[in-house]
Amino acid sequence: MTTNNPKSIIVIFGATGDLAKRKLFPSIFRLYHNGKLSENFAVVGVARRPLSNEEFRENVKQSVSHFQEENVSHDTFASHFHYHPFDVTNKTSYQELKSLLSTLDESYNAEGNRIFYLAMAPEFFGTIAANLKSEGLTSTEGWSRLVIEKPFGHNYESAKELNDQIRQAFTEDQIYRIDHYLGKEMVQNIEVIRFANAIFEPLWNNHYISNIQITSSETLGVEDRGRYYESSGALRDMVQNHILQMVALLAMEPPIKLTTDEIRSEKVKVLRALRPFSEEQAEEYFVRGQYGRGIVDKGEVIGYREENSVDPESNTETFVSGKLMIDNFRWAGVPFYIRTGKRMKEKSTEIVIQFKDLPMNLYFNKGKDIHPNLLVIHIQPDEGITLHLNAQKGGGATSTPIQLNYCNNCGDKMNTPEAYERLLYGCMHGDATNFTHWDEVALSWRFVDTISKAWESNKAQNFPNYESGSMGPKESDALLEKDGFHWWSSITTRLAVGNNDENI
Ligand code: NAP
Repeated sequence: MTTNNPKSIIVIFGATGDLAKRKLFPSIFRLYHNGKLSENFAVVGVARRPLSNEEFRENVKQSVSHFQEENVSHDTFASHFHYHPFDVTNKTSYQELKSLLSTLDESYNAEGNRIFYLAMAPEFFGTIAANLKSEGLTSTEGWSRLVIEKPFGHNYESAKELNDQIRQAFTEDQIYRIDHYLGKEMVQNIEVIRFANAIFEPLWNNHYISNIQITSSETLGVEDRGRYYESSGALRDMVQNHILQMVALLAMEPPIKLTTDEIRSEKVKVLRALRPFSEEQAEEYFVRGQYGRGIVDKGEVIGYREENSVDPESNTETFVSGKLMIDNFRWAGVPFYIRTGKRMKEKSTEIVIQFKDLPMNLYFNKGKDIHPNLLVIHIQPDEGITLHLNAQKGGGATSTPIQLNYCNNCGDKMNTPEAYERLLYGCMHGDATNFTHWDEVALSWRFVDTISKAWESNKAQNFPNYESGSMGPKESDALLEKDGFHWWSSITTRLAVGNNDENI
């Protein structure tokens, strides 16, 4: 284990919750296992239920029990975890937390460095930040960083209010707003694919690219999150954050350096260049959908309006597709089509870059025009890249589509870091590149707010309008058809490593 990793105490607010159990403890374990934590790391869990340290450590061990690595003792790992129960709205309890942190600072030699991770419902974010400051928990010899989970607000006004509140306690440099898509291997790879390959960047513009498609589809419905989802919907849950972040990475100019500020500044310029539209134009550029009953993975499933904690006449969208235009020199005229939804045919997030056709067809594919060149970036569950080219098979004036595939996660999964692992590591090192700056959050909300206002004032008349197990409503297909395009189905774009005789 290395000793030059930054020392810090990680305080997790919401340590008995789902996120802590499913994502944070396993990520901390993997950092520990891979020697990316200081030997003296300590974690303090905060939540209301009255657990002893031993009970809390049992929970931690359970959440990492699927990692059976030699030479790593789960008991030793869990011994770094401490639990401090209190209600975060009770200001006086922060003094007790403060004295616990001071004691742990000494015993773990953590030099006063602290990460406060807010894995709790958003209504607590502002209160916790304010109490941490007012009760002196951020006044130490070392650094303090605040990690905030999504959702960051519900619209621009609420996001601004929350931001103003936490900015009274923490500076922008100390705030790490999580968008866990930015921790994903292939999302981080967008920049590398673009800026480390001579064959792509010269073509990465409106001269050679006809359109870009981003699809993020889920097979699951709302599960037990009906209450949250009713006030969110697909637009706020997915488009405002994850999808617009991917658009920004795909469209930004090369940064002059790979520093946090330079990269963020280029992303902000893209968000500023998004073509604004009026509420009246929202229907022209965006399509909403809500799932009805249907068949998913060979099983019958109920419609959204029948789910728990969902209004039987709900107007909430579980599907969004849209056409974004970026009004700058590089992208003028190139549509970015996005779509995301629940209860769709399959679980997949991928980006398809479709290149323009050649000026003249010398070859044909089964009597039809040749297949366009596509670059597909597979984000999840497959991680990789597929380049669709045309080559000869059999002679004559016939070309056949072929694929070059690279799979990132087909081999050793334990050594492929998880998104939360990368993000925690970045935060410990003070690297905020893969966290969202307030300017990005604000611009994204401003863009999305126009659509949500239009949809709130003009209720959907046709919900539910897509069957579970489909790829969304037909209006979503029509959105592309009127521009002469179609969605690339995942059957065409799927990463097929090792089982496709057309791979080269
Ligand atoms: P959760 O399972 O409901 O957990 C909430 C946690 O907060 C529990 O530990 C709960 O413990 C604690 N808590 C609630 N009220 C409290 C209070 N007044 N004082 C102290 N502790 C309190 O929620 P979650 O799913 O982990 O989500 C946490 C955050 O992450 C949310 O902002 C969510 O939007 C975000 N997020 C979650 C996921 C995910 O996969 N779960 C993914 C992306 C983002 P007690 O009941 O013991 O107090």
